[in-house]
Amino acid sequence: MAMGKNVMRAVRVFEFGGPEVLKLVSDVSLPVPKENQVLIKVHACGINPVETYIRSGTHAKKPSLPFTPGSDVAGVIEGVGEHVTAFKKGDAVFTLGTSYGGYAEYTVASAHTVFPLPDKLDFKQGAAIGIPYFTAYHALFQKGSARAGETVLVHGASGGVGIAACQMARAYGLKVLGTAGTEEGMNLVLKNGAHKAFNHRKKDYLTEIKEFAGAEGINVIIEMLANVNLANDLQLLSSGGRVMIVGCRGSIEINPRDTMLKESSIRGISLFSASKEEMRECAATLLAGADVGWLKPVVGRQYPMEKVAEAHKDIIHNQGALGKMVLLIC
Ligand code: NAP
Repeated sequence: MAMGKNVMRAVRVFEFGGPEVLKLVSDVSLPVPKENQVLIKVHACGINPVETYIRSGTHAKKPSLPFTPGSDVAGVIEGVGEHVTAFKKGDAVFTLGTSYGGYAEYTVASAHTVFPLPDKLDFKQGAAIGIPYFTAYHALFQKGSARAGETVLVHGASGGVGIAACQMARAYGLKVLGTAGTEEGMNLVLKNGAHKAFNHRKKDYLTEIKEFAGAEGINVIIEMLANVNLANDLQLLSSGGRVMIVGCRGSIEINPRDTMLKESSIRGISLFSASKEEMRECAATLLAGADVGWLKPVVGRQYPMEKVAEAHKDIIHNQGALGKMVLLIC
């Protein structure tokens, strides 16, 4: 057992429901790493919108109860299971997925979902990599086929996935347009790779984007709120343009005719559906991005474990994202 401890604090969900079903429990048994797994002492865990959908029981992924949410942790290896050779006790790591859940003092994860924490990043930044950066790369390059010289609109650029998309699109030679709902958010988007930022709460921002993009239009749109924006996105696209649906919280009416003349496409994205090869490619690109310096996670609102329910309310209902929301564990 880690440091003689055999119980820990962890957030547990005993029934599906609103944020109030997230319970901080202080006498949870430490998970034990099995074959090919590692035990991690967690310092921080990213909070992702998907964890609110899973908690409410409305997501396709419905874990058996009780469970601990969270997949993107950063921390230190405390022990390793059989056959693990890539990590040893004391290594600083970050994860994309855990087998136990990340809103906890300790977690276990399969070694293939664990990566060395780049030297330049602290634990909070490490907890901001997983889902946001892998999703941004998957949407932009693996499914969106973005190429240097093209124009991308990151529609919802101030949050976890948006900042990641702006940083990598800029690094790979695209012209980057990003939107946010506040001045502060727009400034953050500009500091993180966007050539130009727009306010998606301003009445005529779509006209501003059209004017800025010029006659050719936008080649790729990374869309965070398709149920609001999809019909408008189709008007902004270039010939052969692609809308990548990353976020969607409801339905919307579109006119399919708007795709015809430009032969544009609408494609849904799910990181859960990415292949092992795609994930390996994402990981290699992101670790290289940290080495050369374009991957710089921006940590936004931070919450102690006691305030996890507030964090789940805020990530859905608060406006004005300023980077990645993180749960502080220790
Ligand atoms: P987040 O950190 O909470 O950020 C939400 C973003 O949406 C902010 O930039 C916010 O801007 C923006 N937004 C708010 N209103 C908008 C509008 N009318 N038009 C455009 N953008 C708007 O969330 P996230 O982690 O980046 O995730 C974004 C979405 O993608 C969520 O719906 C999430 O569930 C989804 N997602 C999907 C996948 C997948 O595999 N498909 C993976 C990760 C995330 P302001 O706050 O500045 O207004």
